[in-house]
Amino acid sequence: MKKILILGSTGSIGTSALELIRNNREQYQVVGISGNKNIDLIREQIKEFSPTSIYVGLEKDAEDLKKEFSFIEKIYFGENGLAELAKNSDYDIILTAVSGAVGIDATVEAIKREKRIALANKETMVAAGVYINRLLRQYPKCELIPVDSEHSALFQSLQGFNKKNARKLIITASGGTFRGKKTDDLKNVTVEQALKHPNWSMGKKITIDSSTLVNKGLEVIEAHELFGFDYDDIEVVVHPQSIIHSMVEYEDGSIISQLGVPSMKTPILYAFTYPEKEFNKSIDFLSFVNSNSLTFEEPDRETFRGIDLAYRAGRTGQTMPAVFNAANEIAVDLFMKGKIKFLDIYQIIEKVMNGHQVLSLDGDDALEIIKKVDKETRKKVREQWER
Ligand code: NDP
Ligand code: MG
Repeated sequence: MKKILILGSTGSIGTSALELIRNNREQYQVVGISGNKNIDLIREQIKEFSPTSIYVGLEKDAEDLKKEFSFIEKIYFGENGLAELAKNSDYDIILTAVSGAVGIDATVEAIKREKRIALANKETMVAAGVYINRLLRQYPKCELIPVDSEHSALFQSLQGFNKKNARKLIITASGGTFRGKKTDDLKNVTVEQALKHPNWSMGKKITIDSSTLVNKGLEVIEAHELFGFDYDDIEVVVHPQSIIHSMVEYEDGSIISQLGVPSMKTPILYAFTYPEKEFNKSIDFLSFVNSNSLTFEEPDRETFRGIDLAYRAGRTGQTMPAVFNAANEIAVDLFMKGKIKFLDIYQIIEKVMNGHQVLSLDGDDALEIIKKVDKETRKKVREQWER
C-alpha cells in the first residue's frame, strides 16, 4: 500500500490523481490532501478518501472541517501550512499539484525527507531549480519524477540509455488556442477565448500559459533543470495533435519518444508506479488508425514571445527564471481579472526582466534570495499594472 499526499487535490491534476486512486483503492491510501478555496470539493474528497492530514487556505475553513470530521488528525492553513503538511505527514509519495511558486517550500520539505516527489508543479522547478538541484545532491534518496507530460516523456525517453549519448531534447507544443494567429489578431482576445485549449483540459493559469506559449517557455527551463541539458540543446517543435509528448535525439540518429492520448493520467500514474508501468481502468489508449496524421511545424516565436523570453531568462540563470515566473503569474492573474490585455503579459514579463538586477544563488542563502525576489516581483507587477 502506497501512502499518497496530494498538494492541490482540488485542481485539475489533483482530481485526475484521485480518479486513478479511486480505481485502485487496494494499492493506494490517500493520507493527505490540500485545497485552497474550493471547500465544497475538499469536503467531498475528505468524505470519500478519509485523509487524516489536510491543508486549506483559510483558518476559518480549517476549523470548520476539523469539527466536521473527527478522524482528521492535523489540519493546516495559511502561509506555511503547505510546507508543514509536507514536513509532518506520513507518506511515501507526494504529488505536488498546486499552481504556482507557492509549492516551493513544500517541495523542499519533501526532498529533505527523501520522499518520492511526483512533480507537476513546474513553477517550483523554474523559480527554484538551482536550489532544488543542490538540495537533491544532499538528499540522494529523494526521487523526483516529473509529471508534466513533456518531462514525463523525456524522462521515459532517457531510460536505459547513456545520457552522454543524447544530442538534444525536443519538446513538443500543441501551439495553444491561438496557433496561426498573428500579433494583430491577439490585441483584443478575451479571457474566454484564451481559456479554450484545443487538446488538454487543465487549470486556468496553465491554460492561459499555453495560449501565450509561456507554458512552453516554463517547460524549457523545467527541462534544463530536471535533465541538465544546455539551452542550445533544447528545442521546441509545434505538434498540434499532442500525441508525441516529447523526444530525445541520440548521437546515432535515433529519436526516442513517448506517445499516448493527451491525458495527464498516464504521466501521473507513471510517477506513482515508476519503474513499473501499471494498468488503471481510467486510462485511455491511443488508436493509431483512428488518429489524424501527426504533423510538425516551427513555433511562431515572434508572435508568441513567451518562448524566447523564457530562453533568455534561463540562459541568464540565477534569479532571472524566478522573475520570469513571478511576473508571468501576476500578469496572468491580472489578465484573468480583466485588468490588462493579452499581449500585455509579454510586455510585463519583458519590462520586469529588463529592470531586474540578477542576484547570485551560489551562497547558502539561495532559497531566501529566490523567495525575496519572487515576492518583490509580484509586488512590483501589482503596483504598476493593477488598476
Ligand atoms: P488548478 O488551477 O486546476 O489547481 C490548482 C490547485 O492548487 C488547486 O487545488 C488549488 O486550490 C490549489 N492552489 C491554488 N493556489 C493556491 C495557494 N495559494 N495555496 C495553496 N493551494 C493553492 O491547476 P492544475 O491542476 O492545472 O495545475 C497544477 C500544477 O500542475 C501547475 O503547476 C501546473 O503548471 C502543473 N501542470 C498541470 C497540467 C494540467 O494538465 N493541468 C499539466 C502539466 C503541469 P483551490 O482550487 O481549492 O483554490
Ligand atoms: Mg506540459
